[in-house]
Amino acid sequence: MSNTATIIRSTGMQYTLRTDDGEVLTAHIKGKMRLEDIRSTNPLAVGDRVLYEADGDEAAVTELLPRRNCVVRRATNLSKETHVLAANVDQALLVVTINYPVTTAVFIDRFLASAEAYDVPVVLVFNKMDRYDLAHLDELAKFKEAYIRMGYPTIEIAAKHDLGLEQVRDVLKDKVSVVAGHSGVGKSTLINHIQPGLNLRTDEISDANRTGKHTTTYAEMHPFDFGGYIIDTPGIRGFGLTGIPDAEVGHYFRDIFAASADCKYPNCRHLREPGCAVKQAVDEERIARSRYHSYVSILTGSDAKYR
Ligand code: GDP
Ligand code: ZN
Repeated sequence: MSNTATIIRSTGMQYTLRTDDGEVLTAHIKGKMRLEDIRSTNPLAVGDRVLYEADGDEAAVTELLPRRNCVVRRATNLSKETHVLAANVDQALLVVTINYPVTTAVFIDRFLASAEAYDVPVVLVFNKMDRYDLAHLDELAKFKEAYIRMGYPTIEIAAKHDLGLEQVRDVLKDKVSVVAGHSGVGKSTLINHIQPGLNLRTDEISDANRTGKHTTTYAEMHPFDFGGYIIDTPGIRGFGLTGIPDAEVGHYFRDIFAASADCKYPNCRHLREPGCAVKQAVDEERIARSRYHSYVSILTGSDAKYR
């Protein structure tokens, strides 16, 4: 007889399950589990819903249930295989700093497009509000206006000074979340101030580690005292548009996608095609030039050509 459980920890070799009855079990993959459809380096990820059966001291995972969504990155820089960082997440919090360090629009837009492609809602959290001068605040206001218009919720905080954290708690409560953002933007500070004692390891793992197949990264789902979970997973920063064909990238930029309905050619890539409604919207400032720039940088792999 099979039961259902959620994977709450994975080392890549061994798993920890929380059963729907609330029991915590160590588990392995049953030899016969069907893996044909899975083209990632890890068949199971934290957040996955599975069927299991008792197998001596351990549980054996017999089946992976369908994923609602997932957060993936390329397994290595060269490979086409993916590594699933987390599955079935309710949202990603993208922590952004206007400065100290600078988070570029290209970084934000790439993240938002990746999340859109994989059906992961994003909340933008602007941190270090205590450090900004008037020019920074002006830039922040522009970012905010643009992203709110596209439907992304935004929160302004100073994690180190406990400012705005009630709003973050409200967003996290009773949901399964991942936290992403450049190194140094304050992700660990934020989570530690929300729940002291949780030490996140969200930093990008080094390329040296990524080239080997047997990376020892593990991911874990931690409960919040006030309800909800945070998935702590190394490499979330490298979350990317893996495996998305060029022609589809524009579908994941909400503003570009909306405007593209009026392009002359249905397969318009919005580069040099005549009758392109997206380029027209950029010229008329209905789409921010920075958004278009981010889009082109993904298509061309560089941002030099279409500036
Ligand atoms: P992570 O790499 O994203 O986990 O960033 P950390 O949480 O390690 O924070 C990086 C640095 O930014 C640390 O020195 C923190 O004390 C500092 N920091 C975090 N939040 C704030 C904030 O709201 N205001 C200021 N001024 N510094 C902050
Ligand atoms: Zn077009």
